[in-house]
Amino acid sequence: MSKYIFITGGVVSNLGKGITGVALGRILIERGIKVNFQRFDPRLNFDLGLINPIQYGEVFVSHDGVESALALGYIERFLDIESDKNNYLTTGKILADMLINNDTKHDENTGMSIQQVPHMTSEIKRRMKSYDDSADVVIIEIGGTVGDMDNAIYLEAVRQFQNELTEDNYIHIHCTLVPYMESTEELKTKPTQTSVRCLNSYGLQPDVIVCRTNKDITLSDHIKRKIAMFCNLKSSDFVIQNKDANNIYEVPLNLAEEGLDRIAIGKLSLPCNALNLNKWKEMINGMDEDLPAINIAIVGKYTENQYSYLSITEGLRHACFNSKHKAKITLVSSEDIEMYGVKDILKPFDAIVVPGGFGDKGIEGMILAVNYARENKIPFLGICLGMQLSVIEFARNVAKLKDATSTEFNVKTKNPVINKMEENKWNNFEKAMRLGDYKCNLKDGTLARRIYGQPEIIERHRHRYEFNNEYREKFEDLGMVVSGVNSDKNLVEIIEYKDHPFFVASQFHPEFKSRPYRPHPLFVGLVNGAVANLKKPTINQ
Ligand code: GLN
Repeated sequence: MSKYIFITGGVVSNLGKGITGVALGRILIERGIKVNFQRFDPRLNFDLGLINPIQYGEVFVSHDGVESALALGYIERFLDIESDKNNYLTTGKILADMLINNDTKHDENTGMSIQQVPHMTSEIKRRMKSYDDSADVVIIEIGGTVGDMDNAIYLEAVRQFQNELTEDNYIHIHCTLVPYMESTEELKTKPTQTSVRCLNSYGLQPDVIVCRTNKDITLSDHIKRKIAMFCNLKSSDFVIQNKDANNIYEVPLNLAEEGLDRIAIGKLSLPCNALNLNKWKEMINGMDEDLPAINIAIVGKYTENQYSYLSITEGLRHACFNSKHKAKITLVSSEDIEMYGVKDILKPFDAIVVPGGFGDKGIEGMILAVNYARENKIPFLGICLGMQLSVIEFARNVAKLKDATSTEFNVKTKNPVINKMEENKWNNFEKAMRLGDYKCNLKDGTLARRIYGQPEIIERHRHRYEFNNEYREKFEDLGMVVSGVNSDKNLVEIIEYKDHPFFVASQFHPEFKSRPYRPHPLFVGLVNGAVANLKKPTINQ
């Protein structure tokens, strides 16, 4: 049976309790402990497939095709796991499963009422045990802020669950904010005290309080003692400081220095190895400010929000740690390119990424970016929509099919080079999606085959439209290389060009599988292409 680390948060939202959880998870993994992580999200959305990335950031897709919030990406990247449908659960999903699919439905059929307590709490507890056999420790993060109406049901489930566990089988970490008041030059502990009192009112007592501080100030012993005393902790050692970090990969180092892992291991009586974070530290050295920079543009349509392309940004950073270069990533609005011209905007960049997206907003600017990268031999990676637009660019400018487009943008086009699969044409919106893992066979002698170093790969998808095979032969004759294909359904997965330093576009999303220790081969390929380009004299444009 697993042991459990419960993480709750108070005072304000977004204070980094998820990062605290995954960072602690990483430290435990470095000690040889097997860790899994579960986040409960109080939202009523069934999944996050339809949320607006400009408002909420990217949608992260697990290998089994669940569309979740970007928090799941942190879980995968820090813990190096392949998440599944139980790692990220919304209230909407739990309710739908309860009321439509499973045993509670049975209660209704037998004339019983269905209630939040005990039915929903039991369902939440059942979900909390999802990884019981496969992990030594399961970290459970309760989304939302203590005191919110919509996370109360989870706090009740946690209370019941803790009550069923013996003391050495769980630890409760509560994350709060300790703000610094400029006017009086002091750190304030009252919000923390109030938050813990609120948590107490649900019958929960934290074992550790992790205090986020928004100034470069060390919590003094005095402050720690004060928090410990007013929040019922036996010692100020259980008050941990979580300072704002320059980059999130430093958080495991900061928390280890504060001894958070030692407290968890002690309370849980976990057998483990001595801590060695050298590999992690070495990786972070690859982010040194003084390293030579690579300027990478992500030309997209959701650039108003820096989190819209979070996994791509992280994947590029991983590849840069690896090549000991600093990733300087700029989100470029494709609508700006339409308005102000591609050359002036993209000239400063060493590599270009055209990412995924839905709908026709900004696509012409993205096509201009693809064309610029192809003709000027700038290292290029197209992802999902980026691949589809690469095909459209080639169709228009090389195959001279001027009206070529995707039926997503114009159903009546005479040249639907990107189209829905025949079997999906009559399906409704949801079912027509290719979501999650699909196999891809790589053609011998191609760039993709070389950079992956293996003939078959599995990658994650999230799209409705595909390369239209009716154009494949013609485009191949004109120089397009189809280097990756899903043989089960005969679908084009990767295209590339030979006379280019690095031009690869994939129908799948490599960003979901990139890890700090194992940067994704396509990002490594792009960054290496950019590094090679840096050494060349300026390109004649
Ligand atoms: N809109 C395109 C499709 O549905 C691409 C989706 C994406 O980039 N994730 O196929």
